[in-house]
Amino acid sequence: METQSSSKTNWFRKTDTPVVIAGPCSVETEEQLVETCKGIAATGKVDMLRGGIWKPRTSAGNFEGVGVAGLPWMKRVKEETGLPITVEAARAGHAEMCLAFGVDVIWIGARTSVNPFSVQEIAEALRGVDVPVLVKNPINPDLKLWLGAVDRFEKVGIKNVGVIHRGFSNTGEKVYRNRPQWQIALDFMKERPEVPMICDPSHICGRRDLLADVSQKAVDLSYDGLMIETHRDPDNAWTDAKQQITPEVLGKLITDLKLRLMSEGDVAAQDSLNFLRQDINEIDNDILNLLVSRMSVARKIGDYKKKNDITIYQAKRWEELTKAAKEKGAAEGLSEEFIDKFLRAIHDESINQQEQVMKG
Ligand code: PEP
Ligand code: MN
Repeated sequence: METQSSSKTNWFRKTDTPVVIAGPCSVETEEQLVETCKGIAATGKVDMLRGGIWKPRTSAGNFEGVGVAGLPWMKRVKEETGLPITVEAARAGHAEMCLAFGVDVIWIGARTSVNPFSVQEIAEALRGVDVPVLVKNPINPDLKLWLGAVDRFEKVGIKNVGVIHRGFSNTGEKVYRNRPQWQIALDFMKERPEVPMICDPSHICGRRDLLADVSQKAVDLSYDGLMIETHRDPDNAWTDAKQQITPEVLGKLITDLKLRLMSEGDVAAQDSLNFLRQDINEIDNDILNLLVSRMSVARKIGDYKKKNDITIYQAKRWEELTKAAKEKGAAEGLSEEFIDKFLRAIHDESINQQEQVMKG
């Protein structure tokens, strides 16, 4: 990393340089973990090792982590590299087992931070134990829920809480696996400037080619650290293969980051325009995706009309549809003329699409 001069420090970031956490998405075997972590340590650029032992999977039957068997392996890499370790806990029992094996920092996953019952249960298990906790943003874009999860850990007496920005789930998103919505992380920083903010570009991007840009953006925004999934053989990783990188690629990524001189005022200025523009890009992208879905439904309707011999243009339906939209638009400050043009354009294209189906 090139030199920089931000003076922001906190319990997590003791120097000017952002803290780097790296390690595999999932701990698979002892050998995989040891080889990966030795490679990571050899870069000399990493401050903490991560490993997922209990994996929250979308579908049942997928690899769900090696479980408690992985904890002695994590302990081993901690001893052999001299680096502290962090593990995800999704249950009170997980947190207790982490403590028993000397896990230095516990992280709370996005599918857990979304659930106040789970968060509270884990917090209770940590009452009176001052282990640092990093709370990932909940999967849905809800700033209050994120702040609330942090609060639950603070209320049981955890002094060192930090947060990880890993992006937000969104079905229409095509570029990022989890849309960053940087503004939410910036709003978090405004509310709680003393809480360390770490970026997880791996889960935001879901693919390797975007990692460097997203990491740089986080550094430009004065984030306190980066958590980057790293694997000795990313293509054959048992989980999140597309987004993991080798220790060598990680070393280069960190070396190439530019640590800019940026005062809080600069961050605020960049925040206002760039982030609004990014929001516009994302919303336009959503509109396009919605239009694609709408046309696909129109084609299905075309198919139905063909089979049942119904005419394409149904005047009554069109009237009802435009009337309701104009009323709704007017209530939100959109002109009737705009709604009319907009719906007409969509309707024309729908009819074209249906005609193609009926001709076909
Ligand atoms: C992970 O870090 O491997 C993970 C499961 O992340 P998230 O909770 O952000 O999906
Ligand atoms: Mn992962």
